[in-house]
Amino acid sequence: MPQSGTARRNLRELPKAHLHLHMVGSMRPQTLTALAEEAGMAMVLPERFLDFKHFYTAYTLANRAIRSAEHLSRLVFEVVEDAAADGAVWVEPTLYLDSFTEAIGPGELILDIVADALRSARDTVGIGARLIVSADRDLGPADAVRQARLAARGDPDVIGAFGLVNDELAHPIEDFREALAIASNAGLALVPHSGEFGGPDQMAATLGLGVARIQHGIAAARDNALLQRLAGSEICLDVCPTSNVAVGAVESLDAHPLPTLLDAGVRVSLNADDSLLFGCSLLSEYELARAAFGFSDRRIAAIAEASIAHSTAPAPLKSSAVTDIHRWLADSGQ
Ligand SMILES: [Zn+2]
Repeated sequence: MPQSGTARRNLRELPKAHLHLHMVGSMRPQTLTALAEEAGMAMVLPERFLDFKHFYTAYTLANRAIRSAEHLSRLVFEVVEDAAADGAVWVEPTLYLDSFTEAIGPGELILDIVADALRSARDTVGIGARLIVSADRDLGPADAVRQARLAARGDPDVIGAFGLVNDELAHPIEDFREALAIASNAGLALVPHSGEFGGPDQMAATLGLGVARIQHGIAAARDNALLQRLAGSEICLDVCPTSNVAVGAVESLDAHPLPTLLDAGVRVSLNADDSLLFGCSLLSEYELARAAFGFSDRRIAAIAEASIAHSTAPAPLKSSAVTDIHRWLADSGQ
């Protein structure tokens, strides 16, 4: 609907895909409170983080609130519902499948629970979703191979991609070639975290491994050759500005390289990463693009279009979402 006066287009109504979000870190705060109370757990999460380790400790604490298949199904459903509420037509949450081994069971069981919950959420909420199965670098290459095999055996209608999370400096991506090859041979898109705390060297190594997207990837802005290489590729960076500042990967929003990446012609999507811990959302990151970075609606629409184009969504969903994005932009907003 056209708006009056100086009001601009409604960012919630802009179709978009949420491509970089961690399942547990995307839990609603009220759900965490309810589950913690139910378990008699003290659950006070910090509002600020001293560093990544501090953040990760809080993430692990939140993880402990999920103690049953029912909790996990609720989490998956709410993640899809929240994405839809922010205007996403597609969502790709990431999960390390052996996150709940003690409380619920092994990764094989977790995958079945999450797959059922995702299918049900898609039907009920009415948007598309696929899981990114992620390996944890800190647990080493052998465990990553196990995660890749789990992902490769899963239903491709539910699993779209394979990721890598955690310490990219201590555990270089080359150590995970075997896991990445298993996932890639199974037809999964490779979407590792890289270039968050790592520098251009880590990113350059990542680019050599056939990745479809890079989660974060902001270090590329520090290297012109890398920027050009990315701009000439079909690789999308799944950027999370609020997260980057919260964990100290970037000093401030003013210093954030998002404009540099876009100016260089790099494909970028905007994402919340861990809304529970950073107090942000998919929509708030789009609002930030307008309010803090001063992006035009044309530039914001291009970000939304990149998120759709580089998602693992089926072609008909992509094509209809892109049509709707163009329609959103064609509406003058005046
Ligand atoms: Zn992340």
